Amino acid sequence: MNKLIFSWPNGKAGALTTSWDDGTVHDRRLVAIFNKYGLKGTFNINSGVLVNRTKKIIRDNYITAKELSRLFKGHEVAVHTATHPVLWRSPDSMIFSEVVEDRRVLESLTGYPVLGMALPYGGPNDERVKKVLKDAGILYCRPVFHVESFELPSDLMYWHSTCHQSTDFVPLWDKFLKNPNPEKLFYLWGHSYEFPRDNNWERMEDFGKLTGKRKDIWYATNMQIYNYVTAWRNLSCSVEMQSIENKSATEVWFKTDGKLRKIEPGQIVKL
Ligand SMILES: [Zn+2]
Repeated sequence: MNKLIFSWPNGKAGALTTSWDDGTVHDRRLVAIFNKYGLKGTFNINSGVLVNRTKKIIRDNYITAKELSRLFKGHEVAVHTATHPVLWRSPDSMIFSEVVEDRRVLESLTGYPVLGMALPYGGPNDERVKKVLKDAGILYCRPVFHVESFELPSDLMYWHSTCHQSTDFVPLWDKFLKNPNPEKLFYLWGHSYEFPRDNNWERMEDFGKLTGKRKDIWYATNMQIYNYVTAWRNLSCSVEMQSIENKSATEVWFKTDGKLRKIEPGQIVKL
């Protein structure tokens, strides 16, 4: 029987994604650094503050509705709820409205379905909350804790990160490069306002220099990773592994008998 081994697009050795919460003006400098080093970010935005500028939610200095689409071009805008409540202590109906209202505003500004999310205040792995988020259209969701692991979680509705911006990432990145797993992912999360608060913007420049513009790494938003991993996991394989069908809209790569192969959307390949 043929063995099918996961591969990132074009046979890249690993993937790098990042995620940033709350949408403050400091995202501007962060995006500039990402664009300089070829990194990708997912930006989780509370739309309540975009709609009502006078209402303070939890931070000062939010970005504006007017700049959102242009600022995050080439990156991803995702849900962080309309007003940043504690979801696991909220009624189902309120969780639903908070997510759908955030989607509605962000979708009208970006022009695409906004279906990724980061949990405000993180929170426990709560089946009730996850069910409401799914009902509201959310496809993946990130809590705030990190695990210093490069494994893809089975449950992308509670998608832990590898490290926070304050983690000593030099040894961790070295460990990542040496890790032999074909599906390895390095996932950094944080808040852009923590860099000026802690007076350490150079950390992000250093991260860009260390990890950016490598030919063996796929730089992707959370949703691009979600799309790819979900398409891979949903490949339809015949019982004897003689043929595989890709029913998704994403091209998928795999290795078999030591060879790298690609399967186009809608295509059936023989092994
Ligand atoms: Zn937040």
